[in-house]
Amino acid sequence: MTKAYDPNNIFARILRGEIPNKTVLETPHTLAFHDIGPQAPVHVLVIPKGAYVDFAEFAAKASAEELVDFHRACAQICDMLGLTGPDGYRAITNAGSHGMQEVPHYHLHILGGRVLGRLVSPD
Ligand code: AMP
Repeated sequence: MTKAYDPNNIFARILRGEIPNKTVLETPHTLAFHDIGPQAPVHVLVIPKGAYVDFAEFAAKASAEELVDFHRACAQICDMLGLTGPDGYRAITNAGSHGMQEVPHYHLHILGGRVLGRLVSPD
């Protein structure tokens, strides 16, 4: 079961305008901004404006309008940032302690601009 949404998480505060962000795209239901600690030349976070803790909760509970808006925004961002060519990119999301999610508001990382290595390293 997904844990309760914390309205004081850092992305909720960004959505309320309490913390600045470097916006890439804003749509009615979605905000995308540059990650503060980029792991690649392109590292953008895409978040729904609604209060969803993680991917599973967003996928289960968001309206059709929110779901379409979010994914179309992702496509637009890939296009805007030049990621749709043959070199590609990575879109990933972390959830919970096993996924090592730091911020408990659903976000998709879009990374590109270099070879990104394997998705999961053995340890
Ligand atoms: P995750 O570990 O999947 O929860 O990723 C959280 C991401 O949020 C990390 O990549 C952080 O660098 C990023 N982050 C944390 N605070 C901010 C902020 N104020 N603005 C932009 N990105 C942030």
